[in-house]
Amino acid sequence: MRPKIVLVWFKRDLRIVDHAPLTAAVATGLPVLPLYVVEPDYWQLSTSSQRHWSFIHDSLIQLRESLTAIGQSLVIRVGQVPSVLQDLMADYDVQGIYAHEETGHLWTYARDLEVLDFCRHHGISIHDFPHGGVVRRLRSRDGWSRLRQDRISQTPLPAPTALLPLSAIDNGQIPAKDDSLFKNRISGKTQKGGRRAGLAIVQSFIHQRANRYLKSISSPRYGPDFSARLSPHLAWGTLSEREVVHRFQEGISALPPRDFGRRGLAAVLTRLSWRSHFMQKLEDQPDLENTSMHSFYDGIRPQDDQTQISLSAWQDGQTGYPIIDACMRCLAETGWLPFRMRAMLVSFASYHLWLDWRLTAPHMARLFTDYEPGIHYSQFQMQSGVTGINTMRVYNPVKQSYDHDPEGWLIRQYCPELAHLPLEWVHEPHLMPPLLASEFNFETGRDYPMPIVDNQTAMREAKNKMAAIRKQAGFDQEAASVFQRLGSRNRPRQGAKKRQAKPNAQQQLDLF
Ligand SMILES: Cc1cc2nc3c(=O)[nH]c(=O)nc-3n(C[C@H](O)[C@H](O)[C@H](O)COP(=O)(O)OP(=O)(O)OC[C@H]3O[C@@H](n4cnc5c(N)ncnc54)[C@H](O)[C@@H]3O)c2cc1C
Repeated sequence: MRPKIVLVWFKRDLRIVDHAPLTAAVATGLPVLPLYVVEPDYWQLSTSSQRHWSFIHDSLIQLRESLTAIGQSLVIRVGQVPSVLQDLMADYDVQGIYAHEETGHLWTYARDLEVLDFCRHHGISIHDFPHGGVVRRLRSRDGWSRLRQDRISQTPLPAPTALLPLSAIDNGQIPAKDDSLFKNRISGKTQKGGRRAGLAIVQSFIHQRANRYLKSISSPRYGPDFSARLSPHLAWGTLSEREVVHRFQEGISALPPRDFGRRGLAAVLTRLSWRSHFMQKLEDQPDLENTSMHSFYDGIRPQDDQTQISLSAWQDGQTGYPIIDACMRCLAETGWLPFRMRAMLVSFASYHLWLDWRLTAPHMARLFTDYEPGIHYSQFQMQSGVTGINTMRVYNPVKQSYDHDPEGWLIRQYCPELAHLPLEWVHEPHLMPPLLASEFNFETGRDYPMPIVDNQTAMREAKNKMAAIRKQAGFDQEAASVFQRLGSRNRPRQGAKKRQAKPNAQQQLDLF
């Protein structure tokens, strides 16, 4: 007779602490089969990349260690989930599947429906548990914040202490980082995955970095060390949003009232609520991956002869705007950028180059170690001005360059062809007088591209096009309905900028 078991399906929740499905599965008293499925079709998507897998790979090794320590190793299978389940059912009588709800893209949504169908057909019960602050089947955005708050304020669940071992099961191999299953290769580095690295980041933020957070958050030079750097751990679930919130709240209580670290920790807590807020949008409207929130903006950026040229220049860091190119090359090399630089790259693509956000979003999804569909698509739409409910923000790349990379540090780091130029010309090398340029053996167009578009003209034209759409009849009515469906009910807090401790470049994070 096949032994009765329950199955815990791990997806973007690669931990055993604060894992409600695992806790509930253990409470059934039946043996638990902890399963992770590598789904080849998912890894062929234009948004998936080997960089994501590299982070997951590290995390699965540690998840397996923690599960083995309490009695049953993680079981790894490669294939489509229904056929993996079918195979397991040959040996086990699966009584139920326990999993977190996933706010993913349309592919995972369709896969979840298929699994649901399969389970219904075979009489297997599915037990879904909410993840983070996202509320499934939310009736109205009014009151959402309170629902999230109630959930996040509950004490994180401890890890189970024991699992009944499954005899004679093949636990399966974790595919290698360079396995050909993972189609989109990325040549740069990847932030270390695994819960241990996540916990170390939490500790170093609370005790060493939080006091410099607000001062450094937009800096391409200091941001990598003084930003929280939690995003991939939250995206792939080696840490739960709730446990981070609780640890940060304890960190705040332990600090004196006027300590800068308190402000840094409090600022990250606010951002964690944004995280849930943006993910909630995708949960409420799963087609945000391919449909603009406000329909008037949906077809405004058609493809033409220039599209591929502009897209390639942007993707390859060859636009002739040093700060744009340096940011894109930095992202390709490290898998991370501060928020402002992400927003600026999208703004440049959407306004200066007039590229549709659906063309540009997959490229950055592949490069971000922290790719999280709910945040990603909501932010892409917002930074491309297609939501109808957010203030349009066109970043001036030249101003951003002087303001946020004043010493040309990022540009010199990632555009070596400009590294030897005097600081005066690093932000706008094409303006360098030819005689002076020849002294540096430098020629725009030969050593570095001419700007792909004229900055002022491109910004003016984009603003005019967007303004014309806003004036169309019916625009405001639709914007009101988008707001009703997806808009934040919190007003941004007005306040003076607080003085912050100066970043110290010597204090660096061990991330790779
Ligand atoms: C175009 C664009 C795409 C983005 N795509 C992603 C993505 O795929 N995955 C992702 O995690 N973040 C994304 N972000 C949001 C943000 O840039 C990153 O979360 C942040 O830079 C990660 O670094 P950190 O962990 O040091 O964040 P911190 O600034 O220290 O913030 C702490 C945490 O709060 C959350 N957070 C911070 N800022 C935001 C924000 N603006 N919106 C929602 N949540 C936020 C993240 O989980 C982050 O880890 C995107 C932003 C833009 C403009």
